Amino acid sequence: MKERVEVVEVSPRDGLQSDPTILPTAAKLGLIRRLVGAGLRRIETVSFVNPKRVPQMADADDVMAGIRAAEWWPSDASAIGLVLNDRGLARAIDTGVDEINVVVVCSDTFAERNQGQSTQGLIDAWLSIAEQARNSGLATSVTLAASFGCPFEGEVPPERVAWVAEQVSAGRPDEIALADSIGVAVPTDVTERVELVAAAAPGIRLRGHFHNTRNTGFANAVAAVQSGVRVLDSSLGGIGGCPFAPNATGNIATEDLVNLLHRMGWSTGVDLAELSSIVPWVEGELGHGTPGLLAKAGIFPDVARNRAQGDRGEVDA
Ligand code: ZN
Repeated sequence: MKERVEVVEVSPRDGLQSDPTILPTAAKLGLIRRLVGAGLRRIETVSFVNPKRVPQMADADDVMAGIRAAEWWPSDASAIGLVLNDRGLARAIDTGVDEINVVVVCSDTFAERNQGQSTQGLIDAWLSIAEQARNSGLATSVTLAASFGCPFEGEVPPERVAWVAEQVSAGRPDEIALADSIGVAVPTDVTERVELVAAAAPGIRLRGHFHNTRNTGFANAVAAVQSGVRVLDSSLGGIGGCPFAPNATGNIATEDLVNLLHRMGWSTGVDLAELSSIVPWVEGELGHGTPGLLAKAGIFPDVARNRAQGDRGEVDA
């Protein structure tokens, strides 16, 4: 049996929160329904943040109500809500998310700009949330944002990331995600930091969150898997970025990642053809194209389609 890499779909949150188009609640639910239809089972569906700062997530409570009322939501699926403080946690519990994700930013300047607190302040916020979340039966994960670099401070030392991971692990999260929020990592960084964080937070499952801002996101995902990481975030079509990080572009595209993993012999539980077919739909809803490539290039091997198209007169050198 093939070994599994779990793909966490973040398009409804990390993807949509920085898109210029604000999707109506029904379209968000349409997206989530299609994603679980393609076999994805962990989905970052919403964030419980100030709607004045992130208007794209203002309907988070309605999205969760729609999921909870839906007959298409699989019983083994997990809806993840991003939470930054006690008030967000209360909303997460009220709306019935299965899992919370708390963001701790590894550099103080980005932490201040993103969440108005120092890294230490965010660590303390997580520690205060952790026990209450667990007592409410929620799974918990902590995303270490700017684990590879900060848009305002530049390099983030590996030792700093390991220190943050160690502090965070005191709250016993189920998972720690190393996030390259601004897409500056290269595979050697991933290998080095995964090793350091695994040592700093022993026994805690690690996850990778990569943006393809400088076209290194997929190489980083492979490096993470080869370093022992078995959970990766990605976003359908590669949509998304971060509204507080200048020029941050999309997450790695889920369909491109799934294709890569399957061709390398990993299983994901995702139906690639089904997944790829959602891309044109979401592009129609957003009113613009997306950076992912598989939906444009087609799934390989698909010789039947090419034979049917016949000789297109192209010279493919
Ligand atoms: Zn991100």
